[in-house]
Amino acid sequence: MAKVTRKIVKINDELCTGCGKCVSPCAEGAIEIYNGKARVLREELCDGAGYCLGVCPTGALTTEERISDDFDERAVEEHKRAIANRPEFHHIMKCSLCGVTENDRPLLPIKSKGESDWVCVHCIPRLIHS
Ligand code: SF4
Repeated sequence: MAKVTRKIVKINDELCTGCGKCVSPCAEGAIEIYNGKARVLREELCDGAGYCLGVCPTGALTTEERISDDFDERAVEEHKRAIANRPEFHHIMKCSLCGVTENDRPLLPIKSKGESDWVCVHCIPRLIHS
């Protein structure tokens, strides 16, 4: 595997509570909860885009520029097939206002006063007009 200098997700174990909110937003399935903490499974699965950062309620996720394995789209596709039936990679998120799940209605990540959460598209107008 080629080593390159690039942006990649960094997880602060001290801040991570293992809540799992960062697992679903990762389109590559690169994050798993292991021994109660989030971890990047393999460097080549993380593209460093950082979509997981905004949903972490504790600020445990950042990106850093460092030497790592290069991002590998083929490895991601193989990995996604491999985890398709593994529930630990598919935390079902709920709307924090009405409780509907992401399987029933699309959810969007929101951040307010330092807190991150998910709200469904039906409840977003309530937030906008409140
Ligand atoms: S969202 Fe943050 S606190 Fe929760 S598991 Fe992921 S890194 Fe840890």
